[in-house]
Amino acid sequence: MDGKTVGILGGGQLGRMIVEAAHRLNIKTVILDAPDSPAMQINALDEHVAGSFKEYESILKLAEKADVLTVEIEHVDVEALKKVKEKFPKIEIYPLPETIKLIQDKYVQKEHLIKHGIAVTESVAVESNTEEALLKIGEEYGYPFMLKSRTLAYDGRGNFVVKDKSYCKQALEFLKDRPLYAEKWCPFTLELAVMVVRSIQGEVFAYPTVETIHKNNICHLVHAPARVPDTVATKASIAAKNAVKSFPGCGIFGVEMFLLPDGEILVNEIAPRPHNSGHYTIDACVTSQFEAHVRAVTGLPMPQGFTEFSTTTTNAIMLNILGDKETANKELEICRRALETPHASVYLYGKTTRPERKMGHINIVSSSMSDADSRLSYILGETTEIPE
Ligand code: ATP
Ligand code: MG
Ligand code: MG
Repeated sequence: MDGKTVGILGGGQLGRMIVEAAHRLNIKTVILDAPDSPAMQINALDEHVAGSFKEYESILKLAEKADVLTVEIEHVDVEALKKVKEKFPKIEIYPLPETIKLIQDKYVQKEHLIKHGIAVTESVAVESNTEEALLKIGEEYGYPFMLKSRTLAYDGRGNFVVKDKSYCKQALEFLKDRPLYAEKWCPFTLELAVMVVRSIQGEVFAYPTVETIHKNNICHLVHAPARVPDTVATKASIAAKNAVKSFPGCGIFGVEMFLLPDGEILVNEIAPRPHNSGHYTIDACVTSQFEAHVRAVTGLPMPQGFTEFSTTTTNAIMLNILGDKETANKELEICRRALETPHASVYLYGKTTRPERKMGHINIVSSSMSDADSRLSYILGETTEIPE
């Protein structure tokens, strides 16, 4: 489309879906990750870099082949990206390394958001990983409170709920010597999320406000739009846009939020990349989150309304397909039922199955949430009659 080659740090499912979107626009993509990663599988090229996005030499090799670098994961080597930019001043890196750095450490991210007037859950850095330090926090925050790894967290794997004093020891054993911070318990009624895309010119566009339902800390379902009053959806959208405006640079961001019983909205965390809560956009919106990201980082047009529901869709549900806990590949039965279901689309990521691993997702689109829900019931095996 514009002759730029996009180098992607990370070749998982998000990279795979960025590749798909880019290729529809004739934009070449090169991936840095382990050989045969999900994104490489669908991108027939000899130029991919087999290596780690946490390592300067590999990032340099990718940079030599690209005009723009982007990420599908925030756990990359930021210092290496900065060095690459010094070596190749012409290369564009989005999200900006400084933005990735601010987001990578979840406690630094929180401090940054507070500085910019964004409401977040109260939190404190854990100065030393000792029981005494945690007991002191428990005295102040009460129980339960949430202990979190500041870095390298995903799918709740860096989180531990400290239910009472007696859990402090276990919490430290679980999180070991990772850098930690503690968050007050947030008695949310719902979790909301908004994808926000920012153009090179600095304009922000929000996708609809959605509701995310987690199971064991992993996103299970997304309902789009969120089943909340318009005032709440708008408030979440504004909070998400304000949060993203506080980070320099362009690209797509996923903003996770908590809705409190009194209607207040707190930002939980931000991802500087496409996000699981935005997968529904592939089928439900005029432009998918992946294409929006590609357009943003390559400076392509982003017209008004491009993040809205497409005219025939007003409601969507996304179901994550996780590796079955007992029987390898049993999760494919869900996909098979989805293939039988009108208005459902199946996305598989080309990964080897493992219990609870994100293997794929299903999008259901409809003109009503109750209709989408009944299709979901069939897909989940709760009903036996194929919806029309
Ligand atoms: P992700 O895969 O989204 O990056 P993560 O490992 O970074 O996840 P968080 O988003 O911090 O983890 O937390 C995972 C889930 O734990 C949240 O979606 C929410 O359900 C719950 N949670 C997080 N923080 C709190 C809190 N302070 N109080 C209550 N529940 C919380
Ligand atoms: Mg996270
Ligand atoms: Mg999260």
